[in-house]
Amino acid sequence: MVAERDAIRDYVSRVTGGRPVRWLDARISKGDFDGRDWTLEIFDVPHREHRALHSRLWPLNRRVWQELHQSLTLVFHTPEETTRLYVWVRQERPSGLLDSVSPRTFVSPPGSLTGFCLRCHQQRTLRSEGAGHRCASCGNEQQTNGLWVASLQ
Ligand SMILES: [Zn+2]
Repeated sequence: MVAERDAIRDYVSRVTGGRPVRWLDARISKGDFDGRDWTLEIFDVPHREHRALHSRLWPLNRRVWQELHQSLTLVFHTPEETTRLYVWVRQERPSGLLDSVSPRTFVSPPGSLTGFCLRCHQQRTLRSEGAGHRCASCGNEQQTNGLWVASLQ
């Protein structure tokens, strides 16, 4: 699940043109509320772009509901608000697998391999193992075959 959350955050950052994106944490809000765990904060988005981005990201909300049975909440912060309250998001890279691992070359996967690795971003590198999957290329273990994340690319 952690890897999928990283992949979702990474995807949203790409869709929004590289804006800082974070899962809500204690540095952003101390309040507790229903849905807190699945709230994604998107920074440096001017008001005029909010509606268009909401529409653009709606298919993602639907997929997250279908695949993970979670209701994704998107919160936009204007550049002014980001400067005033969250300036650190512009400097710090988000932590997570996707930020530290670069894709490797992996030649001719055997036919028994499937899926999409959420860490090294390669297709057909997963082998079923126990209740989950393990990537033959980078060794990442993940719960799902990752294909729904790949379909977001
Ligand atoms: Zn991998």
